[in-house]
Amino acid sequence: MNMTDELYQEVILDHNRHARNYHAMTDATHTAEGYNPLCGDHYQVHLKLNDQGVIESLAFEGEGCAISKASLSIMTDALKGKTADEAKALFEAFHDLVTGQAPSKDSDKSLGKLAVFGGVCKFPSRIKCATLGWHALMGALNQSQGRVSTE
Ligand code: ZN
Repeated sequence: MNMTDELYQEVILDHNRHARNYHAMTDATHTAEGYNPLCGDHYQVHLKLNDQGVIESLAFEGEGCAISKASLSIMTDALKGKTADEAKALFEAFHDLVTGQAPSKDSDKSLGKLAVFGGVCKFPSRIKCATLGWHALMGALNQSQGRVSTE
């Protein structure tokens, strides 16, 4: 096991045990549901967008595997204070990372803690777990109130 794998395990286990922003949101402006039938991951993602188009706060509820939960925990932390466009750009960078495409230098920097998910590309079946929360978030930003499924 190399350093990256160890960091990956440690950060994911920590966020799974102590998920950040893991609660309901009564004043959410956008909400979407994400479901990954292959793994059974099932979450609701809430966010509050202000008049300037900045994401003021994010939260999530639901249950799933350690990777999906840690991904939502880190994502909701990382996107606080970002605009919807910045969130979309970060999702593209994150998606490249977990699907094993070489990230550009810029996206590498902006990913921050999300970079620990680089190890996921070695486990193709877990890519959907890592991206589920992001798909739900994008669905919420696109105002779709329906269910977002990975299938
Ligand atoms: Zn999963």
